[in-house]
Amino acid sequence: MATKVIRKKAIGVEPVEPAVTPPTHDAGETAFLTKPKLTSKSKKRDIPEGLWTKCPKCDELIYDKDLDSNLKVCPKCSYHFKIGARERIHSLVETCSFEEMDALMESVDVLKFTGAASYEAKLAAYRKKMSMLKDAVVTGVGRIGTHRVALGVMDFQFLGGSMGSVVGEKLTRLIETATDRGIPLVIISTSGGARMYEGMFSLMQMAKTCGALAYHAKQRLPYISVLTDPTTAGVMASYASVGDLIIAEPGATIGFAGRRVVEATTQSELPADFQTAEFLMKHGLIDAIVSRLEMKTRLGAYLDYLMAGRRS
Ligand SMILES: [Zn+2]
Repeated sequence: MATKVIRKKAIGVEPVEPAVTPPTHDAGETAFLTKPKLTSKSKKRDIPEGLWTKCPKCDELIYDKDLDSNLKVCPKCSYHFKIGARERIHSLVETCSFEEMDALMESVDVLKFTGAASYEAKLAAYRKKMSMLKDAVVTGVGRIGTHRVALGVMDFQFLGGSMGSVVGEKLTRLIETATDRGIPLVIISTSGGARMYEGMFSLMQMAKTCGALAYHAKQRLPYISVLTDPTTAGVMASYASVGDLIIAEPGATIGFAGRRVVEATTQSELPADFQTAEFLMKHGLIDAIVSRLEMKTRLGAYLDYLMAGRRS
């Protein structure tokens, strides 16, 4: 008997509830304007939070895996999202060719700086948050194409890519290594400027890095500076702007003082594209704008030209 009942239900002989509840008469003609309440949790399950990113330029919703595989460049409008130092190194050097230098060097709170939070507390928080980074730059020697290259890559996520004594020291050691080994140097910058928590110790890094670069240039060894979004203030006013070749990613903000400060000081209206890579290219400060997707190939080609006649 029980089998019979089930079969009847399956073929719909018995009346079943409709899939959609018809609107009540009270709802009248405006029922279709009322947004139905979604009680099911299935929608949340389909698009879990944190797996999609909205492009700030074109509003496209991009699946995070697609964004990662495209080196964090929007596949629709080519907007360049910020990228971490380690991801960038991975995108540039030949597999397993990168040997990191001074990986354990850490900043010290020399000035015992206190503000809303102490410098020591800030450093501890950032080191915990970014377990793979001890400070705002990663340096080492790797291979790009056929060239062994001294490569320094900054990371904006660590205290705004600010340049303190560790960033300055690591870069100086990198430059000196490049000079000693007779290999080219590539530094990829992104920074809000000198690190205020270290006061004059930060500012001294500007002269120190540029001094090392002068010795590098004396050996007729090339230095390519790559500017990414944003590269500003003390970093732009030192090693980032003295490359033999200065290249930038599209749309990157590049400058010294902020737009508002410049406007207030000069009492003039600035063009909309002021302090962008494109504006600076037009005015001769940078030599080329290169998409992140082509960066490795282009760096390889530049190094071929610059290192012609000598082996690296
Ligand atoms: Zn986009």
